[in-house]
Amino acid sequence: MTDSAAPAWNAGKARAELAPGALFIGGQWTPAASGRERAIVDPATGEQVTQVPDSAAVDVERATATARRAFDEGPWATMHPRDRGRVLLRAADLLRQKAAAIAAVESLDVGKPITFTTYVDIPTAIDLFEYYGTLATSIEGAARSTRIPALAYTRREPIGVVGAITPFNFPLILSSSKIAPALAAGNTLVHKPAEETPLSALLLAQVLQEAGLPDGVYNVVTGAAPAGEALLRDPRVDKIAFTGSTQVARIVARTAAESLKKLTLEAGGKAANIIFADANIPAAIETAIKAFVFNTGQFCMAGTRLLVERPVYEDVLAALAGACPHIPVGDPFAPSTVIGPMAGQRHRDKVQGYLEAARKEGVRVLGGNGTLPAGGGCFLSPSILADVSQDSRYVQEEIFGPVLTVQTFSTEDEAVALANGTSFGLAAGLQTGSVARAHRVAARLRAGIVWVNGWAMLDSAMPFGGCKQSGYGRETGPEGLDEYLQTKSVIVSLG
Ligand code: ADP
Repeated sequence: MTDSAAPAWNAGKARAELAPGALFIGGQWTPAASGRERAIVDPATGEQVTQVPDSAAVDVERATATARRAFDEGPWATMHPRDRGRVLLRAADLLRQKAAAIAAVESLDVGKPITFTTYVDIPTAIDLFEYYGTLATSIEGAARSTRIPALAYTRREPIGVVGAITPFNFPLILSSSKIAPALAAGNTLVHKPAEETPLSALLLAQVLQEAGLPDGVYNVVTGAAPAGEALLRDPRVDKIAFTGSTQVARIVARTAAESLKKLTLEAGGKAANIIFADANIPAAIETAIKAFVFNTGQFCMAGTRLLVERPVYEDVLAALAGACPHIPVGDPFAPSTVIGPMAGQRHRDKVQGYLEAARKEGVRVLGGNGTLPAGGGCFLSPSILADVSQDSRYVQEEIFGPVLTVQTFSTEDEAVALANGTSFGLAAGLQTGSVARAHRVAARLRAGIVWVNGWAMLDSAMPFGGCKQSGYGRETGPEGLDEYLQTKSVIVSLG
């Protein structure tokens, strides 16, 4: 664990740890050409924390030209993978040394409880740099036996310049899950973090520079959709690694198609969590709560659709409704807080819109009645929409907040059909006491990751990604490294 076990932090102290509010291009901190800035707001108070440049296409072009040069002229791409790995391992060590400060900045920026940034976000990022720093040593080709008279072998090479576009909800983790494998493979990057939550990417730039990453290999452009679009259009970018909404993933795929960029798309989700009557019910209820309130429900793998077998349905529902008001919602810097604010006003308004519509339509709404802190923060108490039908929009659309739909089923077939019955396919889970059922149902769920008797169990060694409208490609694990490598065949005539 990190040295940040005692999180005696607050918003003011976190502000003192910020990296420069500037673009990071070619190892230099620099303003946007236009001089335009975006305010970064603390979602717990509504107060401005700092400003960062609002990049336009011209700024992105400068960054991609720099990353292109760093790739083409080296030495990063041609360095021995073990030497690249060493830089990543040094970055992991520096992240560990600075863990407390980075956790505090992430909490300030996103509104995440300090307990979670300390024990989840930062250790996960450290582990990703260590994992890929070590895995870099496994990058090698293979000699092949051929019918033609030749010595034939493959080389595993980096793809080139990677454009990383990341969302607001897990800034450091979702940046690290792209940056670490992309760097291990020998690529250079231009990273456009989410417009609301860019602060940890700027800290990461400092860490990577201090770890010895050559200038120009990792560049950060802050800003909104126009900066992302410039990255998608730029022919000097070879690959886009995107995490965000399904709606924007479609734009990314369309725009990147123009220059045939390679893509990894991790988009939305609407994960079903199935509770069978043979499960350990108290444990399953606890899991079901964590699955939808973690990160204020702002995560694509959130278990936002609960399917409960009929004999235990009413009991489970009553327990959930009873628990909701007691989940501590409040100041992200208070160690007891479980639910912080939503990451911004637009996110809270969207979720509230769903809840108001549900009430008007006569949906049975439970919970939503916890005590919220006073003031200007974007807080929401967790809510449950019970007895909803499979075709309702609350079941089919990604709400992206602490809102759980609950449905019932009578047979295993019905549970599987309901679980698979949306356009998404990122994550799913089941709670059961039967080993045979666990494997049987896991095989039938159309999702990139399935949890049995738990939720959101993730590991750097295990691939993560979706099917259907949740995207394609995999992050983390050896598969996550493969996404940043391409294979060259070298055939030497023996004639
Ligand atoms: P979220 O709201 O979860 O952050 P979005 O899909 O809205 O998800 O945004 C994810 C990332 O994509 C952000 O960095 C955002 O700025 C970027 N983005 C949004 N629209 C576009 C676009 N049209 N082209 C490129 N990037 C975009």
